[in-house]
Amino acid sequence: MANYVIETPPIVALPIAGSDDLFPVRRVYCIGRNYAAHAMEMGHDPNREPPFFFQKNPNNLDPSGEFPYPPHTSDVHHEVEVAVMLKSGGTNISIDSALDHVFGYALSLDMTRRDLQGAQKKMGRPWEIGKAFERSAPVGPIHPVSETGFLDSGAISLKVNGQVRQEGDLNQMIWKVPEMISYLSEYFELAPGDVIQSGTPAGVGPVVVGDTMEMATDGLGSVTIKVV
Ligand code: MN
Repeated sequence: MANYVIETPPIVALPIAGSDDLFPVRRVYCIGRNYAAHAMEMGHDPNREPPFFFQKNPNNLDPSGEFPYPPHTSDVHHEVEVAVMLKSGGTNISIDSALDHVFGYALSLDMTRRDLQGAQKKMGRPWEIGKAFERSAPVGPIHPVSETGFLDSGAISLKVNGQVRQEGDLNQMIWKVPEMISYLSEYFELAPGDVIQSGTPAGVGPVVVGDTMEMATDGLGSVTIKVV
């Protein structure tokens, strides 16, 4: 057995709905501007240009139901997204076979320190400080695709304190899930445990401590996250 010179990091493991089983996370990819109305609200062209991705850290995914308001910001935004969990991977995956790699789906948030992200954008610098901070991706239980079927349409929404802030339909994604998997696999080697956050519909906005965020989509039910 290997003798590690420091304490080994824990495996990031996410709960499966209706089961004691866990899903181990390897990497987290997030697509930017994948709904036209959201691209426009952020001041960008909604036309289909090549997709772009950034990454969060596996242990940014947080199934606890709480989102601690992070430091060094006064403008933290919610972005409700469907996360796609992969059971297998590879390189140069065809669009036609991409869905064979999907294990399941979960509701998730791509919480964003928008003020820090905006400053990084202006300077042409990477986004990690705005996107990949501790517990920046609250996530609900994973629903296996064997139970949900492939989710290519259905309402997705986010309420804050009962008020609807974000509304869209999964069929409004500019880059569909099979296209995202195929594209990513040309640039990275995908593998079991990889997670793809599939982008947010329009209506992103700030939260404050004490707020309750309720995300929902057809097929995955709803998940409530408290800002603490
Ligand atoms: Mn996002």
